[in-house]
Amino acid sequence: MPRPLRVAIVGAGPAGIYAADALLKSEAAADPGVSIDLFERMPAPFGLIRYGVAPDHPRIKGIITALHQVLDKPQIRLFGNVDYGTDVVLDDLRAFYDAVIFSTGATADRALDIPGIDLDGSYGAADFVSWYDGHPDVPRTWPLEAEKVAVLGVGNVALDVARILAKTADELLPTEIPPNVYEGLKANKALEIHVFGRRGPAQAKFSPMELRELDHSPNIEVIVNPEDIDYDAGSIEQRRSNKQVDMVAKTLENWAIRDVGNRPHKLFLHFFESPTEIVGEDGKVVGLRTERTELDGSGNVKGTGAFTTWDVQAVYRAVGYLSDELPKLPFDLASGTVPDEGGRVVEGGEHMASTYVTGWIRRGPVGLIGHTKGDANETVANLLEDHREGRLLTPASPEEDAVVAFLRGKGVEYTTWEGWYRLDAAERALGEAEGRERVKIVEREGMLRASAEPQG
Ligand SMILES: Cc1cc2nc3c(=O)[nH]c(=O)nc-3n(C[C@H](O)[C@H](O)[C@H](O)COP(=O)(O)OP(=O)(O)OC[C@H]3O[C@@H](n4cnc5c(N)ncnc54)[C@H](O)[C@@H]3O)c2cc1C
Repeated sequence: MPRPLRVAIVGAGPAGIYAADALLKSEAAADPGVSIDLFERMPAPFGLIRYGVAPDHPRIKGIITALHQVLDKPQIRLFGNVDYGTDVVLDDLRAFYDAVIFSTGATADRALDIPGIDLDGSYGAADFVSWYDGHPDVPRTWPLEAEKVAVLGVGNVALDVARILAKTADELLPTEIPPNVYEGLKANKALEIHVFGRRGPAQAKFSPMELRELDHSPNIEVIVNPEDIDYDAGSIEQRRSNKQVDMVAKTLENWAIRDVGNRPHKLFLHFFESPTEIVGEDGKVVGLRTERTELDGSGNVKGTGAFTTWDVQAVYRAVGYLSDELPKLPFDLASGTVPDEGGRVVEGGEHMASTYVTGWIRRGPVGLIGHTKGDANETVANLLEDHREGRLLTPASPEEDAVVAFLRGKGVEYTTWEGWYRLDAAERALGEAEGRERVKIVEREGMLRASAEPQG
């Protein structure tokens, strides 16, 4: 008797969930259908929407509602708290599935090679983001002793970090932040936040809306130095050919010419300052040294030899995320991605049978949630072509119960989609008690308890 196409998706962030959606909307979903199991290392799904998107972005967090509708479908099962590499590896999955899609995203900070990186007070943005977003695997406290702070990078993550550091704890209280984060932020001493970009306003990677939002807080005075507004022929072309770049540049220009107001927390956006060293004393950050740069005509910059040391006591590096290498899969260290062609994993110039990638592990850590949808569609289209052409491997145990028996046999305490409903209800109940929509449960044990099936 024909059986459904069995697909495993590793990583239940937006890319993995959109891949599941694309599979279920495809022709293959008709009789005998497709059956999908999502494996996720966290007890809860949704990836960086839950553990990356800033808590004061409820509209973006709301994308979870749309993703719910996908995960509600009966052809999809969720196995949360299952780590690929520890609990399952490729050979295990090959025994149960016709195809495996990896969508494990990116979690770590990309390295920045300047002296002083290891000083006390030098932090990776990803770690700070994980802390304020209540990730279970990071410490519960965060040192927020510095009055003057530098943030390196001019992308949206740098903006998130700078904004969270510059807002007051009470401004963030209506969001889903857990109690330990509220307490931590209440002790935050930061009065000045300095964001540094190596290049100019036309090269900043901010989204126009995220940038403008900085100015909406009654506590944040955004300051741009008029001397940092500069364009060469390359920059002018960048502005002409990309509306978003032009909008960002216009916003920065407006801020550069206005009078500085008296909101209590000053947030400086500096351009043409290339970080060269984090300066330390007794093992602690006491400054940041930068070299002034100038445009070279093409939109790139060159150093001028003029150095400044900025008085800061903490430095956050928001210079990009990096994916983890996955056991049994090829990995390109330079780009931090799994090599692929159209989502088919490529090893030694050949397509690895039945093995696919999508999302940030495929493309690298750039682009918004919506961008992962098109990516997933392409990967799934190629997977289905391989299916039609008979190129997929045949699993030894395709029946749905086999993987359940395997996980139970290994003693893996996995969570389910029904478990997410229970965790979701528990977090909403915690919020309701305080007149908030949700309060996140942080500890893995607490998440597992809230997700577990009620006994008796
Ligand atoms: C700080 C930050 C803020 C952002 N803010 C916004 C925003 O406001 N708006 C917006 O549109 N985009 C935002 N983005 C971008 C957005 O988060 C990404 O585009 C999107 O999450 C990428 O999706 P993904 O599914 O590829 O990866 P992820 O979202 O990272 O999902 C990958 C999933 O795989 C799981 N996983 C990883 N390794 C394993 C393993 N070994 N075994 C099992 N599971 C594993 C992870 O736990 C995770 O759930 C932000 C990104 C960051 C870093």
